[in-house]
Amino acid sequence: MLTNDKLAEWDRETFFHPSTHLAQHARGETPSRIITGGKGVYIEDRDGRKMLDAFAGLYCVNVGYGRPEIAEAIAEQARELAYYHAYVGHGTEASITLAKMVLDRAPANMSKVYFGLSGSDANETNVKLVWYYNNIRGKPEKKKIISRWRGYHGSGLMTGSLTGLELFHKKFDLPLSQVIHTEAPYYFRRADTSMSEEAFVAHCASELEALIEREGADTIGAFIGEPALGTGGLVPPPAGYWEAIQAVLDKHDILLIADEVVTGFGRLGSMFGSDHYGIRPDIITIAKGLTSAYAPLSGSIVSDKVWKVLEEGTDEFGPIGHGWTYSAHPIGAAAGVANLKLIDELGLVKNAGETGAYLKQALIDAVGDHPHVGEVRGEGLLIAVEFVKDRDSRTYFDASEKAGARVVQALAGENVISRAMPQGDIAGFAPPLCLSREEADLIAGKVKKAVEATFA
Ligand code: PMP
Repeated sequence: MLTNDKLAEWDRETFFHPSTHLAQHARGETPSRIITGGKGVYIEDRDGRKMLDAFAGLYCVNVGYGRPEIAEAIAEQARELAYYHAYVGHGTEASITLAKMVLDRAPANMSKVYFGLSGSDANETNVKLVWYYNNIRGKPEKKKIISRWRGYHGSGLMTGSLTGLELFHKKFDLPLSQVIHTEAPYYFRRADTSMSEEAFVAHCASELEALIEREGADTIGAFIGEPALGTGGLVPPPAGYWEAIQAVLDKHDILLIADEVVTGFGRLGSMFGSDHYGIRPDIITIAKGLTSAYAPLSGSIVSDKVWKVLEEGTDEFGPIGHGWTYSAHPIGAAAGVANLKLIDELGLVKNAGETGAYLKQALIDAVGDHPHVGEVRGEGLLIAVEFVKDRDSRTYFDASEKAGARVVQALAGENVISRAMPQGDIAGFAPPLCLSREEADLIAGKVKKAVEATFA
């Protein structure tokens, strides 16, 4: 319930929105959507309009909206101790408990969790850890980070550079020179459709190896990748991709950072994407699902191998000079503890796998044969519908036609929120992990309607 009827006006006058067409918004050409409440998979706006949020905010509200268990944990922590820092060995019950809970759920050979606030700052931490690690090992040249085109790793200076999407570089003088990009494992988008999936995997690995050889393995510190591509198109990797990539990285002594900001804590139907695909990362980035966005919190999970070197470094050079005021913020940590308990109690990881498979099939049944649907793909509750101009010749719409965005808009008209992914004509679906089959059917039905209306 809103008490102020000037909000829309104040919004255009005072609020600098992230990732927004600033001029259009100021002119009132974009909707001023003020969200007032949420329950389960639904959100409600100031006009009382109820919408099924099939993208869980920014694929982060994994347990769904309006969970009193988390709200109460936050309130209790705020009453008892709203803040204390984590520098020089300080901690709180919530932050220590959360570190233990994360480690208990993490893939094998992980040692410690460093807590930040956002996925971007966690990846910033990760790059610094890679640099520190190689400095301590006496390999000061080993600093470049390889990322993939279409990868998304944040929008800071370094992390915006790691992100392989043009929009995040354009007019910001990015990427920085320490970042280099390699091919995305996006089989559907291959221009040469005669290449088998297996051959494509070999091609990705050999492209990576060629890049490493060109740059010199002794100049490269780490490779960063999302287990399944997120913002760059919601693309699960082809079979064997990670095995092939890891073999190249191992050969050249290059660390692997698995960015699990989206895939961590259940989205793919496994607790971590690394376990899902048999990835053995050296560092894992977590955020979003760690607290289901009830409070901002992120983390870097550091493996035994990296941790040992970090410890050695501090013995030699003193305390590690890296920390935020809000690292391991107790309120975020309390939200995280309550959230991870809820994920277990409600069986949400399993539900993401099962209802995800159900939703994907429902979408295939609804629009899989439509002449402008090129592919319905996904894993767990990370699903995409990609639109093409022509299925047979695999041609794409011109970007100016905004085909994907128009479908997403039509769907919003049906009170279902999906996301127009920023590069290509892709409608993204990543609903809360508590999605039911009835809600999946509702999404699929509305998608059919929106696709038919858009391409009528
Ligand atoms: N990594 C991945 C894989 C992400 O999807 C995101 C955000 N969508 C980030 C990092 C950055 O997280 P944040 O927006 O919290 O900085």
